[in-house]
Amino acid sequence: MINVIRVPAFSDNYLWLFHHSGSNRAYAVDPGDAQPIEKALQEHGLTLAGILVTHHHWDHTGGVDDLLKNRNIPVYGPHSNNIAQITHPLKDNEYLDLEDGAMGFKVLEVPGHTLDHIAYFSDEARILFSGDTLFAGGCGRMFEGQPAQMQGSLARLAVLPEETAVYCAHEYTESNLAFALAVEPENKDLVARVESVKQQRARGEATVPSSIGVELKTNPFLRVAESSVIAAAEHHTGTRPSNNAESFAAVRGWKDNF
Ligand SMILES: [Zn+2]
Repeated sequence: MINVIRVPAFSDNYLWLFHHSGSNRAYAVDPGDAQPIEKALQEHGLTLAGILVTHHHWDHTGGVDDLLKNRNIPVYGPHSNNIAQITHPLKDNEYLDLEDGAMGFKVLEVPGHTLDHIAYFSDEARILFSGDTLFAGGCGRMFEGQPAQMQGSLARLAVLPEETAVYCAHEYTESNLAFALAVEPENKDLVARVESVKQQRARGEATVPSSIGVELKTNPFLRVAESSVIAAAEHHTGTRPSNNAESFAAVRGWKDNF
């Protein structure tokens, strides 16, 4: 069993620590800041055994140098040359075996937010570290990729088992769902989720992790083939999307100015 610990950082980032329940050797995912990671390690009695990075943005990598001081540990990440500290570059579909097989993650290349973005999926533990690609109720902005590419990346995540817990890197859920509701005001699952997330946030609770099943029902960026989303995209842009990439592009563009 894998324990995952949420480590809030900056204004709305979540860094993650995980470890096998029988071990105190932990791995940090996207440590944008070292200090909150060090604090969490201390609080939970864990030692840092490695670092996993999803993409090159500073809020996902900014703490790596400090965490490597006085530690000789591996840094896993994309095989692009964007991140100097990576010791173990990973390729698409590669299997990342940790702690002598106690934990394992499949590497999924999911370009779009950045071209080097990867996600980590544990089939056994049903855990996905999705970085800034798939958010609870939304998806990352396309800083480097094209709509067809980003939509393809999200579609790849959408077919993971529905019970997979989605650990994304930001608490954006409430604003994401406000937009989702503009796209699909008649979606009953979405209306219910908006209400429960509003209550969670009012209590100061995190809304991450989500799950693939919840996202399939409520996240417009995974629902670009649904007639309701296609109709909303057409209404917004004045042009009927002729495929999933166009539907995605219309909804993503709408969100960018929402
Ligand atoms: Zn990013």
